[in-house]
Amino acid sequence: MFSCFASSVRPPRGIMATLLILATIPAASANERTASTLDFDERFTGRSLRWDYFHSGTAGEERFSLDRFRLEGAWPGSRHRLIDDTNLGKYLFEMRDAESGSLLYSRGFASIFGEWKTTGEAGKGRWRTFHESQRMPEPKVPVRLLLLERNAEGHFRKIHEESLDPASRFVDRSALPRVGSVREIFVHGPSAAKVDLLVIGDGYSAGDRYKFHRDVRRLTSALFETEPFRRRKNDFNLRMIFVPSYDSGISDPRRGEWKSTALGLSFNAFDSDRYVLTYENADLREIAAQASYDTLMVIFNNRKYGGGGIFNLWATSSADTEPAAYVFIHEFGHSFAGLADEYYSSQVAYEDFTPKGSEPWEPNITALLEPDELKWKDLVAENTPLPTPWDQAAFDEISRRYQQERKKIAASGSDEEMEALFRKVKAVTAPLLDKETYAETIGAFEGAGYQAKGLYRPAVDCIMFTRNPTHFCPVCSAAIEKVIDLYTR
Ligand SMILES: [Zn+2]
Repeated sequence: MFSCFASSVRPPRGIMATLLILATIPAASANERTASTLDFDERFTGRSLRWDYFHSGTAGEERFSLDRFRLEGAWPGSRHRLIDDTNLGKYLFEMRDAESGSLLYSRGFASIFGEWKTTGEAGKGRWRTFHESQRMPEPKVPVRLLLLERNAEGHFRKIHEESLDPASRFVDRSALPRVGSVREIFVHGPSAAKVDLLVIGDGYSAGDRYKFHRDVRRLTSALFETEPFRRRKNDFNLRMIFVPSYDSGISDPRRGEWKSTALGLSFNAFDSDRYVLTYENADLREIAAQASYDTLMVIFNNRKYGGGGIFNLWATSSADTEPAAYVFIHEFGHSFAGLADEYYSSQVAYEDFTPKGSEPWEPNITALLEPDELKWKDLVAENTPLPTPWDQAAFDEISRRYQQERKKIAASGSDEEMEALFRKVKAVTAPLLDKETYAETIGAFEGAGYQAKGLYRPAVDCIMFTRNPTHFCPVCSAAIEKVIDLYTR
């Protein structure tokens, strides 16, 4: 998720229901959860298996087609928490025993396709295809692989199924390519008990190798100086892969700059200037598979402000923009913990990112449909008014002014001018938010998830709201720790 300056043409609202809905499947039952405690070695070989496929469609229709099954290295994830009980993600991946149907492994996720289907073009019926991967522990028995999608009511429905006999000739068991070099920055324990964070660079030419090393150390140091990552640093292993690109820097279509790079990152994803993604997921996965990883960050060698992050996929971040540390941490919040953007005043390419009248799945925003059932109510002190008042009008007035300036600079200004504007915005908005009556309170503040009205965030300010604070709000922090536990407990 990330916003843009140039919103695409407003089309008719997309139909959220898919045509391929086959069945409703309830979330994992308690019985299935206890199955996860069964002996890992009985069911799995200890290696990782990757399912690559293409996810195609429009706002109202989606299709899947198999690319391949690929054997990777040792399974880096937990051997105990095989079933995902966090209820995060627009989609859910499940692996079930082909014979008994019992659930062997599951993970929630979001995808580039999932964002595509909320754009104007997809709403107009334009088809696009994106490459996706699911990684899982290699099973010892034939399995069914299921993809489920969350509907507006929050329930998962099956949208695709594939059968796999892991012993068949249809699993590619060839050696992984040796591209670039893997380096350990710190290893605090075995992969099965730690979050294995891997950082890869794009737009770093052979001569930029040591700059890449310095950039990774600078940005990851900032991450591990930020709570809750600071207190949980011991739960992480950190590695990096240097892959030389032909060119320095990544493509920037709006400036007419085209680069040949190892991972194919580019600005202007979905025609959003500062949204940086790659559509070359297959290449990225092959390169990443050389290292043990649970979660993936890609940094790119540019001064221009930009990035992106999608839950359980990967995140991207500009290495050289002045607020690079903020971008790195904010985008990692999206990809690692499924956090939503808490801001709403920048223009975005999405329409109905959260369908009206439905509760978003992200842990840090709410439609507040039932205030008594607020998902972070455990953190809300008694007597806190819900919604929680704040001076939204004053903040919006300033935001509107700066968004106009920002648009002008994005169209014809320099990176330095943009950074100067960000400093100015911070100098004005930080004191404004600090002096709010409920500045230190957890509540439900209106304006979040790209909507000024109807969606609420937990705190006046947070790394997911502005570039001002140096910490996540307590709700985001708790959500991050929950996901850390999923890999380490
Ligand atoms: Zn937050």
